[in-house]
Amino acid sequence: MRLSRYFLPLLKESPADAQIVSHQLMLRAGMIRQSSAGIYSWLPLGFAVLKRVEQIVREEMDAAGCQEILMPGVQPAELWQESGRYEAYGREMLRFDDRHERPMLLGPTHEELITDIFRRCIRSYRDLPQNLYQIQWKFRDEIRPRFGVMRGREFLMKDNYSFDLDLKGAKRSYDNMFRAYLKTFKRMGLTAIPMRADSGAIGGDMSHEFQILASTGESEVFFDAAFEEIDLTADDLDIEELKALYAATDDEHDAKAVPVAAERLRHGRGIEVGHIFYFGTKYSKAMGATVAGPDGDDVPVEMGSYGIGVSRLVGALIEANHDEKGIIWPEPVAPFTLGLINLRASDQPCTDLTGDLYARLENAGVTVLYDDRDESPGVKFATMELIGLPFQVIVGPRGLKAGVVEVKDRRTGATEELSPEAALNRFAH
Ligand code: ATP
Ligand code: MG
Repeated sequence: MRLSRYFLPLLKESPADAQIVSHQLMLRAGMIRQSSAGIYSWLPLGFAVLKRVEQIVREEMDAAGCQEILMPGVQPAELWQESGRYEAYGREMLRFDDRHERPMLLGPTHEELITDIFRRCIRSYRDLPQNLYQIQWKFRDEIRPRFGVMRGREFLMKDNYSFDLDLKGAKRSYDNMFRAYLKTFKRMGLTAIPMRADSGAIGGDMSHEFQILASTGESEVFFDAAFEEIDLTADDLDIEELKALYAATDDEHDAKAVPVAAERLRHGRGIEVGHIFYFGTKYSKAMGATVAGPDGDDVPVEMGSYGIGVSRLVGALIEANHDEKGIIWPEPVAPFTLGLINLRASDQPCTDLTGDLYARLENAGVTVLYDDRDESPGVKFATMELIGLPFQVIVGPRGLKAGVVEVKDRRTGATEELSPEAALNRFAH
């Protein structure tokens, strides 16, 4: 992509209403624009990141044996009256009537809808287990939307729903998701700590929130220092051992019950990027989602639901990866792998070489943002630092004379001088 053609409305100043760094940087880097409180449009740079995050989540869910579906955003109130949540959900649910005066709502979550699909399609225990997921926009009329995409009203969520015949199966499904979540976040370069969360009326230990550490997080968190040492994606990771380690958000934290030596107890703030939850037969009983068991009796299915905040993750990634100059994208989610800077657009040899590198990199499948604008080097550097592409390749008249271009690593700031061929080979595999 040529920067001169790219829709990238940068802002010089941080907007006054953006309180946290990810919100400021997303606005300044032209990733999003607000349309009303907590509701955003995703512009090309932001949308590119959102799609990469979404794709990693999708690949990991597929790898965990789940199947992708897409449910409607608009749901009939009827289903929620059946489950008993229609009244209970309160004002976070946006409700309206259609032209036939049927009460409808914008889905804040999809337990009811999936339970309805399940009960109409699955009749026998032989068809279990099932784990279906979607990646879809949710609407919650949050009382205090804030922090940009971190707490929006309309936001992109990945939500899975598992169905099993019995508790043993449900536990297997839960653990499968637990492992998949650790992998998913790790692939984005994030360490998400699984923390015991409120498991509602059911109790037990089958509810975990996945929290990324960041000083601007909304949750106060407490955890065993062991989490800083463990490889959370090791194949031989014993998740029972992991679950036994202390980690809790403030509402679950009990200073008296902490089995961790004081000097090993870490305290900080976290961003909830995922939540997995076993809720047993809550919806299947209320809505009659049963299967014929092995002995012919009807059994209500055991269910769990598993959410990841896909759009929130974009903000969380920035909270975890930035410096005073701007964003630093981890490669797996970067909107482009590299920024190609032509320091002097008016210099023909420079422009020829940069144009040639650009074409060859793109041919090799490398995603490149080529700054071909007629701007000062200072402006070009500041732009690249702000939008945070992992690498920069800089072509200027002085280097050209010596037969080299500069390759810069955005995260470390380290630079290398390489021949144009060597630079090309660095990225084009
Ligand atoms: P929170 O405690 O942050 O309000 P929640 O517990 O209500 O979240 P869940 O129903 O567990 O959220 O939703 C699954 C995931 O969706 C959360 O872990 C979070 O990452 C994301 N999420 C929830 N609410 C929002 C929101 N208003 N804006 C962006 N992402 C959200
Ligand atoms: Mg939650």
